[in-house]
Amino acid sequence: MTQERLPRLAFLGLGVMGREMAGHLVAAGYAVAVFDIVADACSALEEQGAVACGSVAEAVRDADIAISMLPNTPQVQDVVYADGILANMKSAGVFIDMSTISPEATRKMAGDLSAKGIALLDAPVSGGPIGAKNATLTIMVGGDAQAFDRARAVLETMGTTVTHVGASGAGQTVKLCNQLICAVNIQAVCEALALGRASGVDLSQMREVLLGGSAASWMLDKLGPSMIDGDAKAGFRIDLMLKDLRLVLEMAGQNDVPLPATALVTAQYVEARAHGEGANGNQALFRVYDRMTGQDKRQAAVMDSRQ
Ligand code: NAD
Repeated sequence: MTQERLPRLAFLGLGVMGREMAGHLVAAGYAVAVFDIVADACSALEEQGAVACGSVAEAVRDADIAISMLPNTPQVQDVVYADGILANMKSAGVFIDMSTISPEATRKMAGDLSAKGIALLDAPVSGGPIGAKNATLTIMVGGDAQAFDRARAVLETMGTTVTHVGASGAGQTVKLCNQLICAVNIQAVCEALALGRASGVDLSQMREVLLGGSAASWMLDKLGPSMIDGDAKAGFRIDLMLKDLRLVLEMAGQNDVPLPATALVTAQYVEARAHGEGANGNQALFRVYDRMTGQDKRQAAVMDSRQ
């Protein structure tokens, strides 16, 4: 029996998420050509067995499937249009964009690429850097069903839950709904902790009790301890959530859907970033409540009195 050749891959964007995801593909035996605008980002992957390239064009030229994991919509448009995938990938190729970007821009790119015989799948992820490292990402995929079938094994090398959720843009839509729920839930946890703290209850005990009842949530479970301890280390960064919330509000505007809770929490993310929290994890939203309740001033006074 002849063994089917594995598709040749290109991977664009080797940041916090992409370098782990590309690493799994190399480890699984795929030939992977990699490119990042930061040349150093390719070195670690090269050591693992990937081929480092100097441009998008070089990386995608021989690829059957190209994958991107880039910051936002303009960067994905860049790798498509600026002497990139549109001009250099072979017809019948599949381009999987795993970044979180605009559903509308996704549909426009899918149309332009399809005119050249290239299928675009939008396949954003949930699970963060730990999910990327452990290949346990949840991946929600929009686009042509046949292209999805061709890409499924590649996607399953990076994630455990891989679901085709509809036509082009549907993956991004589901991901943005996921982000809306996450952000509003983080805000709810912050408000409860701020109220509990001001009323003098033990926050760690309160969290444990609440995790046993109907207020239990992933955010209370995973981010609650670092909120209580004042540990702001990322995880999923404030900057990235703010970017996603803006995409949610843009989509809400296009569809005439009022999202009052999302609008409010977006303003708090703007406040957090203005106070230098952009590179911190999402639990740093609690620091907005430190400032609103004067807790930051009280903490500073305690520190001063100790000096
Ligand atoms: P990152 O900023 O760490 O990595 C992005 C990489 O893309 C960088 O290495 C950058 O140099 C590279 N890049 C930028 N423009 C480029 C271009 N034109 N060509 C080639 N490379 C380019 O971001 P990340 O944390 O890896 O996130 C990537 C995407 O995944 C984002 O859309 C983000 O919203 C989404 N996401 C991130 C997380 C997370 O926790 N970090 C979780 C889920 C989803």
